[in-house]
Amino acid sequence: MTFPQRLIDGYNAFAAGRLPHEQDRYRALAERGQSPEIMVIGCCDSRVSPEVIFDAGPGELFVVRNVANLVPPYSPDGRHHGVSAALEFGVGVLKVKHIVVLGHAHCGGIRAFAAEDREPISPGDFIGKWMSLIAPAAEKLGARSEAMPDYLQRLEQASVGNSLDNLLTFPRLAKLIERGDVALHGAYFGVATGELSVLDRATGEFLPVDHVRTALS
Ligand SMILES: [Zn+2]
Repeated sequence: MTFPQRLIDGYNAFAAGRLPHEQDRYRALAERGQSPEIMVIGCCDSRVSPEVIFDAGPGELFVVRNVANLVPPYSPDGRHHGVSAALEFGVGVLKVKHIVVLGHAHCGGIRAFAAEDREPISPGDFIGKWMSLIAPAAEKLGARSEAMPDYLQRLEQASVGNSLDNLLTFPRLAKLIERGDVALHGAYFGVATGELSVLDRATGEFLPVDHVRTALS
């Protein structure tokens, strides 16, 4: 199998377009290292790229992506923990100031968890266990009383809240949050509409970004 032509074409477009404008920035970042202030925990979903949605350049976002943008609770058990390792690096070494959990509409992982027949998203050894991280959010919502699409949106958003709660179980991070050195945020991207909403943690509601701006001004 050859290297995908799509990637070669994409790289050539980048090398001719963006790279000349950003070359100095890449050089500077190579010399002094990265120091992004914002960490984003997003979904692997190919439609929800944080760098695209937030129009970010090199060095601006420290991103970790996994199926359904989940954060497991702190569990120093000697196993392999990708999200926890990224958090440790982002918080402890890069000293990010903000951590954003970015959920999204039409999340396949959330849908698979909520499906009535509970068909696994894929056969295999890992996904079922991984998706069980959604269970506390689903429990909080209780039995589904609305149409499935509405329920899925509620669960996608509740799962963002649950991931934020799990972030607080990391002792070092919890301390930094308490001191005001790190802030946690939830956000939600509407894939079809392109609309971004931000979680108002006081009410638990996700507000469209233009409303957030109005509320702050
Ligand atoms: Zn997803």
